[in-house]
Amino acid sequence: MGVLSLSRRQFQSPYERFCTVLEHVMERLKLSTRERAMLREPQHEHAAELSLQRDDGSATVFPAYRIQFNNARGPYKGGIRYHSAADADEVKALAALMAIKTAVVDIPFGGSKGGVQCDPKTLSRKELQELSRAYVRAFAPHLGADIDCPAPDVNTTPEIMAWMRDEYEKVTRTYDPAMITGKPLSYGGSRGRDTATARGGFFILQELVDRDALDPKELRVAIQGFGNAGAAMAIFLHQAGYTVVAVSDSQGGIYCPEGLDPIRIQKYKKKTGSVTGEYCKGSVCDIEKMKLDHVRRVTNAELLELPCDVLIPAALDNVVTAENAERVQARYILELANGPVSPEADALFEERGVTVVPDVLANAGGVTVSYFEWSQGRSGEQWTDEQVDRELKRIMLDAYKAVRRTARREKISYREAAFLVGVQRIVTTMRARGWV
Ligand code: GLU
Repeated sequence: MGVLSLSRRQFQSPYERFCTVLEHVMERLKLSTRERAMLREPQHEHAAELSLQRDDGSATVFPAYRIQFNNARGPYKGGIRYHSAADADEVKALAALMAIKTAVVDIPFGGSKGGVQCDPKTLSRKELQELSRAYVRAFAPHLGADIDCPAPDVNTTPEIMAWMRDEYEKVTRTYDPAMITGKPLSYGGSRGRDTATARGGFFILQELVDRDALDPKELRVAIQGFGNAGAAMAIFLHQAGYTVVAVSDSQGGIYCPEGLDPIRIQKYKKKTGSVTGEYCKGSVCDIEKMKLDHVRRVTNAELLELPCDVLIPAALDNVVTAENAERVQARYILELANGPVSPEADALFEERGVTVVPDVLANAGGVTVSYFEWSQGRSGEQWTDEQVDRELKRIMLDAYKAVRRTARREKISYREAAFLVGVQRIVTTMRARGWV
């Protein structure tokens, strides 16, 4: 690949990056023109301008989206993110990924995603609640347990899900606990949902490590992102004997070759972070103040290139690209974030024999436990921790095995194999329904 084509292609948008993989897979499956057209574009793209009255009396308008990609296999399903990069293109790509993801883990949902283009760190708690309620008022006709069911994503929390459910039930004058997932336990949530994304990824990494007859004690892990998924993953790995050598958050990261104690770091973050400052106070970097030995600060970019065996990008997309992939030292990359590794980086890793477990498989634990929450909401049942853990493990390992089988049979990467499994399932249902 020439330098020019590499640098030009680095500027692919999130949706273009999604299409790069999708097109390969549709070609391999020899789909019809109509099937391809349906899989390329969302079924509905809803957009709104949310006007928020600020605490100082002024007003700010925020662009907001709900993009419903495909519902062949069941109601649309996907989180809502609050981020300044959450524009129509990004939300569309994330909605498409959700459609593939729910099919890879074979749960009865389609795919959608929502976003509000804002910097939540600049909002007060009151403003955050008002913005969340405004989002629901704008999109309520398109939501519901049987229609489209949101959940948390980047910068959105169980508390925000509770406000959203409350607003939805008010405006629609219904009782609909399954209209949103990722809610607090005290208001219709499921046990295990908060740690589900990490838990699902953990089961898959354990399986890989077992298959390759490796000893967790000899594996060094670097994790980018100490939010919901990253922090829980660090703790699961630490407890299972892995050495977590680096963690980071939006403020930067810390590195210790002898290993960090993620439980201590999380406690520290919780203690120093206030509710309103949930997003920025108590950065992992401040752990330095604890005067730990041999801990040094690293940037988020440096973290990706540290000496380690397993790299877990658990924050934002497009962080491993053609520009830095050569310098990544890990042998395994587990995508807990959505879209952290670009298609060019994927190609380089394939050449070097680095195993990349793609987002649509690695982080599907979150939506899987969302499915458990949705079904508990509809039946009124309450599952135990053991039940959630057992079912999650079963579903994740079934999905992993289907992807691995496909990768071996077709001699393709795990990402292409996961897309192939997902697309095949969606198309089979579209055909059965007479859509194509
Ligand atoms: N936001 C999560 C994801 O990207 C969870 C979605 C859900 O639970 O619906 O998979």
